[in-house]
Amino acid sequence: MPQAPKSKKPAEAPAVDKAIQIVIAGAGGFIGGNLTRYFIAKGFTRIRAIDKKPLHEWYQRVPGVECLCLDLSKEKNCRRAVEGATEIYQLAADMGGMGFIERFRIECLRSILINTHMIESATKAGCERYFYSSSACVYNTDLQKDPKVRALKESDAYPAMAERGYGWEKLVSEMFCQEYWAERGMKTFIARFHNAYGPWGTWTGGREKAPAAICRKVIEAMDEGKDEIAVWGDGTQTRSFMYIDDCVKGIDRIAHTDALVAVPINLGTSELVSINELVSIIEKIAGVQLRRRYQLDAPRGVAGRNSDNTFIKKALGWEPDTPLRAGLKKTYDWIRSQYELRKKGHKTVD
Ligand code: NAD
Repeated sequence: MPQAPKSKKPAEAPAVDKAIQIVIAGAGGFIGGNLTRYFIAKGFTRIRAIDKKPLHEWYQRVPGVECLCLDLSKEKNCRRAVEGATEIYQLAADMGGMGFIERFRIECLRSILINTHMIESATKAGCERYFYSSSACVYNTDLQKDPKVRALKESDAYPAMAERGYGWEKLVSEMFCQEYWAERGMKTFIARFHNAYGPWGTWTGGREKAPAAICRKVIEAMDEGKDEIAVWGDGTQTRSFMYIDDCVKGIDRIAHTDALVAVPINLGTSELVSINELVSIIEKIAGVQLRRRYQLDAPRGVAGRNSDNTFIKKALGWEPDTPLRAGLKKTYDWIRSQYELRKKGHKTVD
């Protein structure tokens, strides 16, 4: 098994040739769309963005990017996707917030098809770097039974007892990445994301995560003159939330740090909050205070989950650092603008 780096390493991603062919899978979604924009802003000139959604449903269409609509659970499409590529960013998955991953375990498990075909195709095509978006859902659920949870460090994924469906699929895909490095020399990079949030993400429709869902509920309550919102669970569940700008910066840095080849690493903040605290922050941003109707039979996930950032600080000399309140303000403003556009009958991200 590859070893963790021994020393503190640079805070900035090393310079990379801007003309390499980059492929971003899942680019019609939240993180993939923001990553595409990030690389274009950095001056990369050859980006191929891929998603199975029809182009008009993509959250972002970034000018200057080759956009392809391909179902990457099919091997033939993966071979097309990676043609001529130097770097692959594999973010495509059938996923969503707690409401989705607890209810649709088969869809989550079937994302294994995307990961197996993509890594095999990338290796055969001679791609140099393969980034894989894993999740904090790989961690042993027995360690997450208390809201005052000890932050999870990378070794806590084993002995394995991942989140059913989604978490197991991620853990097995991580193993593929490690073995493709060990047996076939493909440089793979594995980040375990902890709850990313921000503009240009899902905010309605059932796949949204807690920050977006609560922003939307507060906006709806104010708009409809209600004095109450529904909160899933009893509000004591704890989590950490990472702003999207930190997420894409972290992906770039991890994917260009050779000491991290095939070594899973947390990418999240260690600012632990309860769902009740999250609601209070969003209420303050909105300038309102609402009664909370706790839905005890709604999906709530593990009792507590936080990211131990000891390893990322050592490996990169950096950790996601956008304060939750600052990130939520931008997210709230964006969701409110989407809500207003939708009310006027315009098409929005959903
Ligand atoms: P998202 O749902 O917004 O984006 C995923 C995209 O993948 C979607 O646009 C979807 O259409 C696409 N996709 C699904 N199946 C596909 C297929 N067969 N072929 C091609 N495209 C397909 O999700 P996101 O929040 O942007 O997450 C990106 C990645 O990060 C996912 O792998 C997810 O599991 C992982 N992750 C996200 C979070 C988070 O907080 N958002 C946390 C942990 C891990």
